[in-house]
Amino acid sequence: MTPALRELASLFPPTRLLTQPGELAPYASDALTAFRAQPLAVVLPESHAEVVAAVRWCAKHRVPYVARGSGTSLSGGSLPVEGGIVIGLNRMNRLLRLEPKERIAVVEPGFINLQVSLAAAPYGLYYAPDPSSQPVSTIGGNLAFNSGGAHCLKYGMTSNHVLAAKVVLPDGETVELGQESLEGVGPDWLGLFVGSEGLLGIATEITLRLLPKPEAFHTLLAAYDSLEKAGEAVAAVVASGLLPGAMEIMDALAIEAAEAAVQAGYPREARALLIVELEGETPQVEAEARYLDEVIRASGAYEVRIARSAEERMKIWKGRKAAFSAVGRLSPDYIVQDGVVPRSKLGQALAEIERLSERYGLRVANVFHAGDGNLHPLILYNGRVPGELERAEALAGEILRLCVALGGSITGEHGVGMEKRAYMPEMFSSEDLAAMRRIRLALDPLELANRGKMFPGEAPAAHSHGAHPLQRAGVISGG
Ligand SMILES: Cc1cc2nc3c(=O)[nH]c(=O)nc-3n(C[C@H](O)[C@H](O)[C@H](O)COP(=O)(O)OP(=O)(O)OC[C@H]3O[C@@H](n4cnc5c(N)ncnc54)[C@H](O)[C@@H]3O)c2cc1C
Repeated sequence: MTPALRELASLFPPTRLLTQPGELAPYASDALTAFRAQPLAVVLPESHAEVVAAVRWCAKHRVPYVARGSGTSLSGGSLPVEGGIVIGLNRMNRLLRLEPKERIAVVEPGFINLQVSLAAAPYGLYYAPDPSSQPVSTIGGNLAFNSGGAHCLKYGMTSNHVLAAKVVLPDGETVELGQESLEGVGPDWLGLFVGSEGLLGIATEITLRLLPKPEAFHTLLAAYDSLEKAGEAVAAVVASGLLPGAMEIMDALAIEAAEAAVQAGYPREARALLIVELEGETPQVEAEARYLDEVIRASGAYEVRIARSAEERMKIWKGRKAAFSAVGRLSPDYIVQDGVVPRSKLGQALAEIERLSERYGLRVANVFHAGDGNLHPLILYNGRVPGELERAEALAGEILRLCVALGGSITGEHGVGMEKRAYMPEMFSSEDLAAMRRIRLALDPLELANRGKMFPGEAPAAHSHGAHPLQRAGVISGG
C-alpha cells in the first residue's frame, strides 16, 4: 500500500474502502457498459464530513475522482477515471426532513427518487421529476444530470424542483447553494450547479420541492398510420394551449416489442401511438378532456381509446413502460440515443429519422417523451455483423446533428458524460466552451472532479450490448 493509500485507509474503515479487483469491478462502468475503467479505490462515505475528507485527500494527492449515485448514467457520466477514486454515495440515503406544510423534503444524495414520493404520499404530496430509472436512481445523480421524465412536460426538470443543496467543492470547502424559500436573492449559483454532471462539486444534502398529488387523470391512446402524423399531433396539442401531465410516442417497432412483452392490447397495425394524460382537479380535467378529444380527432388519429378505469390506465402505461427494454427482444444490440427537438419540429424530425434508417439499412425504434420533444431513437444492430456497429454509430451521430440543426440539443436527459462530449462543438461555439471551462477551472484548477467528462476530447465509440441488467430484471424501464 502506498503512503497516500494508507492515509485514505486511516479515514475510512476497511468495509468502506474498496481496493480489491473483485470489489472494484461493479464500479468500473455505469449503465453505458461499453466504457470501463479500473479505479484505484472506492470509498463509501456515510456523512458530509467523510465526503469532505475524501475530496481533501484527492486534492492533496492530486487524484481524480468521480461522485457516483446508482451508476445508471447512460452516457458514461459516472465512469471512473483510470487510477482515480470513486466516491460512492449510496450509503448516504437518509431522509433528513419532510415538512408537509412547507412542501419540502431534505434528503441525502443517495436517497432514491421514488422513495421521495413514497415518503410524501401520506401527506397527499409527491416529487414530480420521474426518470424511468426512478426506482433506482439517486437524487444526487438526478441533480447532477438535471434528469427528466414523462411528467417533466408539465412540471419541469429536476432543476425546477431543487430549492437548495449543500455542496463540497473540489478543494474540500463546503458551500450552501439556494435556500428553502421560493424567492431567492443574488445570482443563481444553484442553477449553475444543477446539470453540471459532477464537475463542480458533490452535493451532500438536497432540498426538494413537493407538489400536491393530482386528484384525477384522463388517459388517451391515439393510433396513427404514420409516425410523422403522431409527431404533428403533439405540436397540435401544445398549440391548443392544453398542458398535459405527459405525452409519449411509440412507433411500430416499439409497439411490436411492447405487445410481445406485456400484451398491453395496443392496436398492432398502428404505425405510431400517442399517449396523452391530463391530470389535476376533477372539473378542470373533465373540461380539458373534451377539448383534448377534439384536438386529437382533428389530428388524423384513426383510432382513439380513453381509459375508463384505473386498470385500463395502468394497462396503457404498462406497454409504454415496458417498451424500451422490450426492444431488446428485437435485436442483439442497440444504441440508445437521447436528443431533443423543438416540439413543432417533431414530425419533421421523425420523418427524417425514418429516411436515415432506410438509408443506413438499420431499424430504428422510437419510444420517447414527445411532449418535451425529447427523442430516444433505439438503433438496432448486430455487433457480430462486421461494420454494423460503425454504421449504427454513424447513424446515431447524424440523428444528433439533425436535432441541433432543427434547433434542439444533443441530450435531453441522459447527460453528456463521455458519450456525447465529442458532440459538444455541434451545439456550442468554441467561445461558449471556453467560458464553461473557465468556470470549471476557477473551482477545480487541477480538473480532479469527474475529469474527462463533458468537454470535447477523444471519446471512444458509444455502444450498448442489449438492455441494462436492471431493465432485463424488470426493475426499471427505459428513457
Ligand atoms: C433504463 C434507464 C432509463 C433511464 N431513464 C431516464 C429518464 O427517463 N430520464 C433521465 O433523465 N434519465 C434516465 N436515465 C439515466 C439515469 O438514470 C439518470 O440520469 C439518473 O439521474 C442517474 O442517477 P444515478 O444515481 O444513477 O447517478 P450516477 O449514474 O451514479 O451519476 C450520474 C452523474 O451524476 C454525478 N453525481 C452523482 N451523484 C452526485 C452528487 N451527489 N453530487 C454531484 N454529482 C453527482 C456523477 O458523477 C455522474 O456524472 C435512465 C437510465 C437507465 C439505465
